[in-house]
Amino acid sequence: MGKLGPQQGYEFLIASAEGLEAEAAELRKKATAIREAETKAKPLADRLVYAAHSRCSCGAGLAYDPAHDDPTSPHHGPTFWDCSAIILGTADKSVKHTGRLPFAFYEVKSEGQPSAYGATTRPSHAMGDVA
Ligand SMILES: [Zn+2]
Repeated sequence: MGKLGPQQGYEFLIASAEGLEAEAAELRKKATAIREAETKAKPLADRLVYAAHSRCSCGAGLAYDPAHDDPTSPHHGPTFWDCSAIILGTADKSVKHTGRLPFAFYEVKSEGQPSAYGATTRPSHAMGDVA
């Protein structure tokens, strides 16, 4: 094998790698936008992410809206765990509820964590079968 030509030299390879990285970043951005649009299109009750084990003092599971950046979300704002009944507007206002728990300060295991082993506080009627 002889000396590398200009099409295989260091600068060419670096420029090619940078071009591919920019293309990959663009594809990731598009994929994320599709995922976000799909999430926002779901009814709130279906898209809520529930805690694996943690519940509000009223008994409802803690949850958050993965589309919390959507201004139309009742859970709009910085990410925090909240009583799912409060988010869904079905909470009994005569009982005490756990306050909002910001992600930055509280570790709450999500039903989506592999280490939750399928545990969820999601009510069974929230899985799609309308009661
Ligand atoms: Zn509650």
